[in-house]
Amino acid sequence: DGNSPGTLVRNADIAMYETKSQGKNGYLHFNPAMSSNHQDRIILENDLRAAIKSGNQFELHYQPQVSGKSHSIIGLEALIRWQHPTRGLIGPDEFIPLAEETGLIIGISDWVLSAGCRQLRAWRKAGYDHFKLAFNLSPKEFEQGNLVDRINRHITAFDIPPAAIEIEITESLLMNDAEKVIEKVSLLRHAGIHVSIDDFGTRYSSLNYLRRFPVNSIKIDQSFIRDLVPNHAPAIVTAIIGISKSFSLDVLAEGVETEGQFNQLNSLGCDKMQGFYFSRPLPASAVERLLVSGVFPISNMKPALQRCG
Ligand code: C2E
Ligand code: MG
Ligand code: MG
Repeated sequence: DGNSPGTLVRNADIAMYETKSQGKNGYLHFNPAMSSNHQDRIILENDLRAAIKSGNQFELHYQPQVSGKSHSIIGLEALIRWQHPTRGLIGPDEFIPLAEETGLIIGISDWVLSAGCRQLRAWRKAGYDHFKLAFNLSPKEFEQGNLVDRINRHITAFDIPPAAIEIEITESLLMNDAEKVIEKVSLLRHAGIHVSIDDFGTRYSSLNYLRRFPVNSIKIDQSFIRDLVPNHAPAIVTAIIGISKSFSLDVLAEGVETEGQFNQLNSLGCDKMQGFYFSRPLPASAVERLLVSGVFPISNMKPALQRCG
């Protein structure tokens, strides 16, 4: 599909990316329609590079993690957003996969860790030191030798106690190079940092891995919480909560959106929750208003949501 070596290689490359975007272990013949996708990708990649360099196009939003019993904020999860100069606000699902493929994820994570720790220091100085800040790290980063040093560098630069930090990792990475990941997770734990498994249950959860990975907690994926309907708890949610108890792990339910789900999780013994029912991810200033109010005003949630967007 090309009449020069350069074009052939370029088109083969484009077809390879297209195949990868449809999942691994496949193949596709090049067709010209793939080119525009590829162009978009290259433009996005260049824009991402520029964004990392400038450092002022990203922002962090924070989503509260709440205790069902005390209604208090026990954690905040830092979630990145990209304020693109022409395309407006872009969510992480649109650029994190590209960043992972291109290696740009390291620069992004450094920005996230630094901005998050800076914000956490400000909150702690203002007296709000009762919650953890959770960061999402990409599986790719666990392949890098200096991950633990990088995290430690950020938390010491901002004088953050390691116990105030949680690292969320997705299950997929646990499957790749298990020994390496176990070693990194152990080092993080050894440093006093908490580690949780994100989106638990969606990939190849293996009890054997859970036994070997020294994590503190698991986060039940939101797809299972969505299936909770009144008077019927799907077996998988009950099972995951049971597994967490057997392994003495903390468990948190993601994507809690309704009062019914909240009540059901409470009765299933899952106290820690996160989701739109409590709050959407918020900019730091809006989080401050929640922190000032102390406990989470569950009965006032709807107005609070409207206020904070
Ligand atoms: P995640 O870590 O599982 O984060 C939860 C996602 O679910 C967030 O989407 C959040 O806004 C959304 N969510 C929370 N509660 C609810 C709910 O009740 N209902 C529904 N429908 N959705 C809810 P977001 O912010 O778009 O992030 C998507 C994913 O992008 C994250 O999934 C995480 O895997 C990744 N991500 C976000 N920030 C970062 C980052 O700084 N670094 C890396 N490597 N990945 C990140
Ligand atoms: Mg997460
Ligand atoms: Mg998740």
